[in-house]
Amino acid sequence: MSNREKLRQLLLQLDDKSYKAYKDIKGRYHFSDFTLIVDRVQGDPFASPSHVRVQLSQAVADFPKTLYQSRSREIALRDYLTRQFDLVAREFSSHRGTGNSGRIAIMSVGQSVIERTAAFVNDELVEVRFVVGLPARGRRISGRQAAEMLCEDIPEIVDQALKYESLDAVEIKQHVETIEDADWLRQQLAERDLVAFIADDAILPRRSGVDDRPLDKNALPFQSPETLRETFNCPNRGEVTGMGIPAGITLIVGGGYHGKSTVLRSLEVGVYNHIPGDGRELVVTQASAVKIRAEDGRSIASVDISPFINQLPQGRSTRQFSTANASGSTSQAANIIEALEANTQLLLVDEDTAATNFMIRDHRMQQLIAKDKEPITPFIDKIRQLYTDYGVSTIVVMGGSGDYFDVADTVIAMDNFQPYDVTEKARAIAKQYQTERIPEGGKEFGEIAPRIPLPESIDPSRGSRDVKLKVRDVDEVVFGKEEIDLAAVEQIVEKGQLRAIAEAIVYAKRHYINGRTTVAEVLNRMMADLESQGLDLLGNLPEGDLVLFRQFELAAALNRLRTLQVRDHH
Ligand code: ADP
Ligand code: MG
Repeated sequence: MSNREKLRQLLLQLDDKSYKAYKDIKGRYHFSDFTLIVDRVQGDPFASPSHVRVQLSQAVADFPKTLYQSRSREIALRDYLTRQFDLVAREFSSHRGTGNSGRIAIMSVGQSVIERTAAFVNDELVEVRFVVGLPARGRRISGRQAAEMLCEDIPEIVDQALKYESLDAVEIKQHVETIEDADWLRQQLAERDLVAFIADDAILPRRSGVDDRPLDKNALPFQSPETLRETFNCPNRGEVTGMGIPAGITLIVGGGYHGKSTVLRSLEVGVYNHIPGDGRELVVTQASAVKIRAEDGRSIASVDISPFINQLPQGRSTRQFSTANASGSTSQAANIIEALEANTQLLLVDEDTAATNFMIRDHRMQQLIAKDKEPITPFIDKIRQLYTDYGVSTIVVMGGSGDYFDVADTVIAMDNFQPYDVTEKARAIAKQYQTERIPEGGKEFGEIAPRIPLPESIDPSRGSRDVKLKVRDVDEVVFGKEEIDLAAVEQIVEKGQLRAIAEAIVYAKRHYINGRTTVAEVLNRMMADLESQGLDLLGNLPEGDLVLFRQFELAAALNRLRTLQVRDHH
C-alpha cells in the first residue's frame, strides 16, 4: 500500500498529461488515520465521476457500539453518516475545470431511512463510498487540483463527517432511536390486529408535489379520533398515542381537498422509516403494503386476471392475460394479482388514481348493462373475499361512492384535514338507503395461479455488452435493449432503488430464473440473499449507489419488462 505523500507526488507528476493517465491512481492509499481507495477511474472529465471509498478504523471513528448494535440502529447510523458526509462534501465540492472536475459527492437521499451502500459501520471500521470528479483543464489532468481534492479536502471531510467526536452526539442518538422506535411500532401492528398507525401530532402534508419535506407553517397536526386511538410504549420515546387502522376493509371518505390522499400517501411510504423532523417518523404501515392504481399502457405477461375480468370482446382469455397496452381496468386488475403473487397483506387504493369502472358498478348501471355484457367484476364485489380468502386487508380512499359502505369494517371521514370515525353513521345510512346492487363477485376470490418466468425472455445485454443497465430519474430503468417504465410504481422513493432493482433482476436471472421456479419463489430467494448477504451482492465492484427495495418493487420491474414471458405452473 502507498501513502498519502506518494499519491500527492503521483498526481503532481500527472499534471498536464492526457486524462487517461489518471488510470494510474487506482489503488489503496494509507493516510494518517484512514485509508483511501480508488476503485474506478473515469475515462474523461465528462464521464460519470470516479468511485472512491474511505475506511476508518473504529479506533479512530470511535462510534459507541450502542449506536449500531441493533439492525435498526445500524441502518440509522449508516443513514446519518451518509447525510453528514453529504453536508460537508457540499462545502468542498466545487467546479474546478471541465465536466465533473472538482465534484465530491455521495449518493443523494430523501426523507426516508433505508439500507444503502453509501456507508457501512461495524466493530472494526466505518466505510463510506462516494464519487470524485477528477479535475481537468480541457482534457488534460489538473494534477495540483487533484492533489488538493484527494490529499487535503477528503481528509478534511473525513474529519468533520465521519468521526464521532466531531458530530452532534444528541442528534445521532435521536436519529437511531427514532428509527428503532418506528421499526418496533411496525412490528407491533400485527399483535393488535392493525395494519397501520398514525401518531398524534404527525405532520402528513408535504411542501409541494416536488418537495417531500414537511409542509411548514400551515400544516395541521394529525389527531386520532377517540374510538380508534391506540397507545404504545416505544422502547426509546416511551408512550405514543395515535390512530390505529384495523385489519379488514377501511374506507377513507370526505370532501374534496380535505386531506384524504395525503393520509393515503403517508401510509404508502409508511413501509419506510423517516428522519427526525419529517413529521411521519411515527407513521407506520404493515411492511407488505402495496399501492394499487390504474396504469393504462403498461404491458402484462400472462396474468390470471379472471377474478376481476372475464369474457372480453373477441373471446380473449383472461386466465393468461397478456397485452402490450393495458387499459385502466385491466392494468389495475393485473397490479392487484401481481401484488398478491408477491405476497402482499395490504392493498392501498386511491380513487384519484383508480379506474372508475374497476371500482364501482351501481344499481342503475347493472340494470342498463347486463352482467354478461360487462367483463369487469368491480373491486367492491371482491374486496371482502380478499380478506376472508387470503387475509388481505384494503384501505381505500373513496369520496365519490357510498356503495362501499356495505363492505367496509371501518369508515374514517377526513374533515378539514382531521379524521373522524364515522363507521356507525355509515352503517346506519347503508341500512336506511339500500343500494339495491346485485353482488357480482361469486363465492370466492379465485385462485392466484403461480407463474414461472422464462430466462430467455429476460436479457440485460446490449451490443457487445453482456449487461447494460442505466437509470433515468426515479422512474425508468434501461435494461439491455428495453426500457422499464416505473413511473406508476409509487413506493419506489429513491433512484438508488432502481439501480439495485436492475442489478437484482440480473442476479435473479443468473441464480434463480431457470424456467422451473415461480415468480414468488424467485422473489423469496432474492430477498433472502439480500437479507443474509447485504446489497453488496449486487453489482461488480463495491457500489456506492444501491438502495434496498422490497420484493414488490422488484416484482413490479420484472412484470413491466416488455419482453417478459412466463409459463403457468402446470
Ligand atoms: P383530497 O384527497 O381529500 O382531495 P388532499 O389530500 O389532496 O385532499 O389534500 C389537499 C391539499 O391539502 C393538499 O395540498 C395537501 O397538501 C393539503 N393538506 C393535506 N393535509 C393537510 C394538513 N393536515 N394540514 C394542512 N394542509 C394539508
Ligand atoms: Mg384525493
